[in-house]
Amino acid sequence: MGEQQVTSLDVAGLHVTVAGLGVSGIPAAKVLHARGANVTVVNDGDDARAREQAAELEALGIVVRLGDGATLPESTELIVTTPGWKPDKPLFAAARAAGLEIWGDVELAWRLRGPDAAPWLAVTGTNGKTTTVQMLASILKAAGLRTAAVGNIGVSLLDVVLGDEQYDVLAVELSSYQLHWAPSLRAHSAAVLNIAPDHLDWHGSMEAYAADKGHVYDGNRVACVYNVADKATEDLVREADVEEGCRAIGFTLGTPAPSQLGIVEGILVDRAFVEDRHKNAQELAEVSDVNPPAPHNVANALAAAALARAYGVPPKAVRDGLRAFTPDAHRIAHVADVAGVAYVDDSKATNTHAAEASLAAYESIVWIAGGLAKGAAFDELVAKSAKRLRAAVLIGADRGLIREALARHAPEVPVVDLDRTDTGAMLAAVQEARRLAVAGDTVLLAPACASMDMFANYNQRGDAFAEAVRELGAGA
Ligand code: ADP
Repeated sequence: MGEQQVTSLDVAGLHVTVAGLGVSGIPAAKVLHARGANVTVVNDGDDARAREQAAELEALGIVVRLGDGATLPESTELIVTTPGWKPDKPLFAAARAAGLEIWGDVELAWRLRGPDAAPWLAVTGTNGKTTTVQMLASILKAAGLRTAAVGNIGVSLLDVVLGDEQYDVLAVELSSYQLHWAPSLRAHSAAVLNIAPDHLDWHGSMEAYAADKGHVYDGNRVACVYNVADKATEDLVREADVEEGCRAIGFTLGTPAPSQLGIVEGILVDRAFVEDRHKNAQELAEVSDVNPPAPHNVANALAAAALARAYGVPPKAVRDGLRAFTPDAHRIAHVADVAGVAYVDDSKATNTHAAEASLAAYESIVWIAGGLAKGAAFDELVAKSAKRLRAAVLIGADRGLIREALARHAPEVPVVDLDRTDTGAMLAAVQEARRLAVAGDTVLLAPACASMDMFANYNQRGDAFAEAVRELGAGA
């Protein structure tokens, strides 16, 4: 196992340009300033909110330039960017031409962490990240370790790394944007759950997107965890530049080969972190310990278990941690049964890959879908799910794309196109679904689209669904 080199960076006197106000920019600017750096914040926008934020930073002595996020301030020695800023921005071209490094929030946290910093178990992928790091944290806690689920999940790594609380190990969710801007990050072990087209306008191409995700494996010391069913993730392990002795560990919903975790007769088993893996397997938990036991979620549990086992967690903690885990809201949440029909809220299925996994978890479905497609095509999703669909109810701005895909690949499936984008359309959608469903069916909200055409976010969309189901129940 290679030694982890921890060098807490001294930024005193360094001229740092922070690109972008906002969730990560403001704390980054404050931390760098507090450590003696000369900080300039540049921001594209110049609205009332930006001015308010700027005033707060200026009061501390930080320079802020509003309305000009393109010009590289003179004497800049380092750029710290908001992860969401696209790599093709002129500011970055100028920085690269000047030979400057560009760090995101994760890189900054990584560099500023102290000498006794906890190792990171990292998770990325197109879908399932939040669920997997939460499962992982639950397992690590069950093993008595001091840990937290942090990163892209909404808990700032900078806060955690610089805070007073001591951790043994961190369960870190990383987005592809964050990985793009984290050149020196070296996790103890990492998992890429899956790779499907998403955010391609940001990364420029599927190859660039995958490469950014694959960076999570670089420098791993113990295990690179990949998805046996998604060859692209295995390819990334092969391309990664890891520490000597680091192993490739697969997870599969099938029977595991040596160096894999998988399922045998309803049991999650480990054939990777056991003695004599060619002959032995270790039982970890039952599929029914996973909440909910939908296939893609069992895959998430296996990935979490693989990382925990790579860290040395005993089998019993895997089972206890999985049993103690409850998923966040709007992720295949069972809302109610009304007249023998189950109503399930997977509002978080905001892309086609997530919706496909969700639809695969039920046999006979009235599917509520639609919203903002973000450039996605629905043919594959509909073709793969057609046999499970009792009917479909469509809402939202881009519902026509789904309607056309249904006409092409599932012409026998009844479709109700509500032709509505108002918030109240959810109640009508649920009422239509109820009319179409037969006892034993599942009415599944898995929109395969973003929500912002009709709702503030996916939470509000899921809440509207649950509210509509409750109204149905009350009237039943
Ligand atoms: P992320 O943090 O990557 O967005 P979440 O754990 O919040 O992932 O899950 C988001 C949605 O993705 C879920 O509601 C579900 O529809 C889908 N999903 C979860 N895990 C997987 C998986 N392993 N493969 C495909 N889709 C998944």
